[in-house]
Amino acid sequence: MAGNSVAADARAERGRQCLVTGGAGFLGSHLCALLVGRGDMVHCLDDMSTGAERNVAGLQASGRLTVVIHDVREELPPGLPRFDEIYNLACPASPPAYQADPVKTALTSALGARNLLLRAEADGARIFQASTSEIYGDPDVHPQAESYNGNVNPIGPRACYDEGKRFAETLFTDFARAGRAEVRIARIFNTYGPRMDRDDGRVVSNLVVQALLGENLTIYGDGNQTRSFCYVDDLIAGFDALMHADGPLDGPVNLGNPDETTVGELAALVLRLTNSRSKIERRPMPVDDPRRRRPDITRAGRLLGWRPRVGLETGLAATIAYFDRLLAEGGKPLPPRSAL
Ligand code: NAD
Ligand code: UDP
Repeated sequence: MAGNSVAADARAERGRQCLVTGGAGFLGSHLCALLVGRGDMVHCLDDMSTGAERNVAGLQASGRLTVVIHDVREELPPGLPRFDEIYNLACPASPPAYQADPVKTALTSALGARNLLLRAEADGARIFQASTSEIYGDPDVHPQAESYNGNVNPIGPRACYDEGKRFAETLFTDFARAGRAEVRIARIFNTYGPRMDRDDGRVVSNLVVQALLGENLTIYGDGNQTRSFCYVDDLIAGFDALMHADGPLDGPVNLGNPDETTVGELAALVLRLTNSRSKIERRPMPVDDPRRRRPDITRAGRLLGWRPRVGLETGLAATIAYFDRLLAEGGKPLPPRSAL
């Protein structure tokens, strides 16, 4: 007991030691900013495959963030401290990015989960897994609650991502069940905002950049497929609430914005907010592209008191302002926190 309170005092003084894998990516860089801002010591571990060091460059000046270039498929490198918290975000998230090397994607989730869970067990750290709404595949239950087991094609072009994430959830749950690690699993629904990679192929960055450049807006299929878009600040607040909720918290928690939009409606909103005269260009619908997706966030509300606060129009305006500045500055690094 006395030992615990000494350790807690030491943590309060120096901040927690946190490992953020995938920390140089879109969501990871926002999470690193939150942790550094709170006084924690952050080790941002990333292989820079879809992330970039410039995403966290502004945080290094704090002296509280260290970049470690490493692939989570390999055992963790020597020289790292004993961690209080581990956040596993390492994995490409955009379909073109995760399909570029599907074997690497599947093994990033599988071996990354194994390597990080073993480290959490050895350190006595709490560990967070960035899971995904892709767990539900092309859902035949709507909206999707955590109790729905999903409809995933195990051999399709999205399987490397979906099945990798499903396997990681299995491993996390088995470690928790065996009392080997205290785990938190977030099932993240489509999230957007400043510091998305402009070229990674996701719908929000594609449409916003196309509209700002006066290029055609690419809509795959008839544009009637739906997604529920969550603004990044809301999501990161959800990570924080989930990771720091008291006591054991069994099972995954959906984090997303239940406000459902068709891709066609999203394109129309982007055109209006950018005053763009771009035209719509139809492209073929990708194989296994889910027709609809909306989170049931009852569990997050009940357990964490969390719900998203930023509407699509407000969040898109902030995202458009970011890309507008990025394009004007020729891709220079931008500040670590988004400002709404
Ligand atoms: P991102 O591609 O911007 O970030 C992923 C980061 O992981 C990148 O910095 C990349 O370089 C790094 N990475 C990839 N493979 C790695 C490896 N083998 N070893 C070390 N680092 C590696 O994507 P994001 O949108 O920031 O997503 C972050 C996490 O959240 C991912 O795990 C993703 O599956 C999950 N997620 C994101 C969304 C979303 O809408 N953004 C939705 C669901 C789940
Ligand atoms: N999409 C689109 N145009 C684009 C990029 C994506 O119409 O330029 C569609 C895509 O087919 C999907 C939806 O937008 O139906 C969301 O795609 P994204 O890649 O952002 O996320 P995910 O499919 O992983 O949910």
